[in-house]
Amino acid sequence: MEHISDRIQALAPSATLAMSQMSSELKAQGIDVVNLSVGEPDFATPQHIKQAAKDAIDTDCTFYTAVPGYLSLREAIADKLARENELHYDVSQIVVGNGAKHELCNVVMSVVNPGDEVVIPMPAWVSYVQMVILAGGKPVTIEAPLEQGFKITASQLEAAITARTRLLMLCSPSNPTGAVYTRDELAALADVLERHPNVMILSDEIYEHINYVGHHESIGQFHSISDRVIVINGVSKAYAMTGWRIGYMAGPLWLARAVSKLQGQYTSGVSSIAQKAAEAAYRSSQDCVEQMRQAFERRRDLVVSLLQEQVPQLQLLTPDGAFYVFPRVTALLGLTTPSGSVIADDNDLAMYLLREAHVATVAGSAFGAPGYLRLSYATSDDNLREAVKRIAVAVNALKQ
Ligand code: PMP
Ligand code: GLU
Repeated sequence: MEHISDRIQALAPSATLAMSQMSSELKAQGIDVVNLSVGEPDFATPQHIKQAAKDAIDTDCTFYTAVPGYLSLREAIADKLARENELHYDVSQIVVGNGAKHELCNVVMSVVNPGDEVVIPMPAWVSYVQMVILAGGKPVTIEAPLEQGFKITASQLEAAITARTRLLMLCSPSNPTGAVYTRDELAALADVLERHPNVMILSDEIYEHINYVGHHESIGQFHSISDRVIVINGVSKAYAMTGWRIGYMAGPLWLARAVSKLQGQYTSGVSSIAQKAAEAAYRSSQDCVEQMRQAFERRRDLVVSLLQEQVPQLQLLTPDGAFYVFPRVTALLGLTTPSGSVIADDNDLAMYLLREAHVATVAGSAFGAPGYLRLSYATSDDNLREAVKRIAVAVNALKQ
């Protein structure tokens, strides 16, 4: 007898991973798919980081680690937060987990009670709403469409907060939109939050280093709310280490203890070898981070200009960070494909592009933003040129 708990039945599968899986399946059938679905750097992990992992094995760093991570890694993270972000955390306030995803979920599970409201600006990364649902919380969304630069305003935030609000989930630079909040915009949000002392702020800064407009700004910098801010970050995006699975939370001591308790029963400390690699990433030269950032910026410029030239039907905002473009595709909805089916929504469009153009993207609906499409440009110039060419052909084949 199959019996799946209500909790897991209520959970939607991850659309980013599903689309990437579909793209891999088509590739396995011999179809030449250009994959712009999953968001991960296409670069190899830098050599000195790989070497640190090899050294970790050779020096027998192969035993269970402390549940919140090796002390030396947490010291490296505390130093990074002080050096780069002017955020001062004791090592006891930092917990390392299996990627930023794990720590986001651990924090949500540790602070949200059934029925608690969690404010999520939309569009948002696929997993936020699902994590809240898993915890039994109630997602309360704020719409931030393209006209607002995909950013919420202070008055929208004020209007969304109620007596039941427990948490705000903020992501800057943003997946899926590439929007980056300025210091002033964050200050305005912090002013609102100052008036609501029961609201915690979960600040997902995983794209910190993939920023094309200047220095990263964390909402954790505002002293009036800093004791309620939980910073989430990790090595996946900055150091091209998605498969190593190292991320962390830095926040109030009581919460770090709760997250550690959860990990103690659920996962233990994460891979000792990956932890040593992450420590090397934080402790060594940061040149590799800047080199990759520059490559992403060049690709951003390339994909934006290619799309503007070849697919003018898409409405596009030039992203300020991360490695996604998030065009509005409503001009294409209602059109008919050469085989006679109607593109009713962004999901149909993503499937049409996958099946006919062999380009994998993710529908905006997966991010709570119907009528948009997400394209990851963390891939080669050749792939980007080919993908845009194919999208243009497929789009031009659509009829009224
Ligand atoms: N937050 C956002 C916004 C992301 O895009 C990702 C990447 N999937 C994550 C968190 C998780 O990153 P990881 O678990 O690889 O550290
Ligand atoms: N951040 C990536 C994305 O959004 C990774 C996939 C995932 O974990 O969702 O595509």
